Amino acid sequence: MSHTAECIFCKIVAGEIPCLKVFEDDAVLAFLDIGPLADGHVLLIPKRHYERLDAMPADAASELMQHLPRLAAAVLAATGADAYNILVNIGPVAGQLVMHVHVHIIPRANGDGLGYRWSAKQYQGDRGKQLAGQIASRLA
Ligand code: 5GP
Ligand code: ZN
Repeated sequence: MSHTAECIFCKIVAGEIPCLKVFEDDAVLAFLDIGPLADGHVLLIPKRHYERLDAMPADAASELMQHLPRLAAAVLAATGADAYNILVNIGPVAGQLVMHVHVHIIPRANGDGLGYRWSAKQYQGDRGKQLAGQIASRLA
């Protein structure tokens, strides 16, 4: 049995578990989150099982993300919201509960209480320069 057999989103893709679908093509599926943070909270997923965004081939990631502008515009038009957050949690420490890549589209409204400011730090000394170099060298 493959690891996808136990994956709730793979089961949704396979039609074994129902969802409130809003869009689908050969490669992606978008549906309402079952526990919405706001009305119209949508999840966009690749149909193929990838656990992490950083494990996706670039073309599969592009195939997924290309739908965001149109999908977000539809969510805004349907909900009347004019603000939203795009959120991708990767890894349990970052809050990923479902181990199948998914992009949250979360409509926002004044006073919705969801918040958005995370506490920012400052780099000390050379730390920023060092890190930029370490990341850049892995991309060269
Ligand atoms: P994560 O914390 O992994 O980024 O978010 C997982 C999201 O998937 C949660 O917001 C949760 O409500 C949603 N979710 C979990 N199981 C189901 C399901 O069976 N159907 C739908 N539509 N959403 C689900
Ligand atoms: Zn899956």
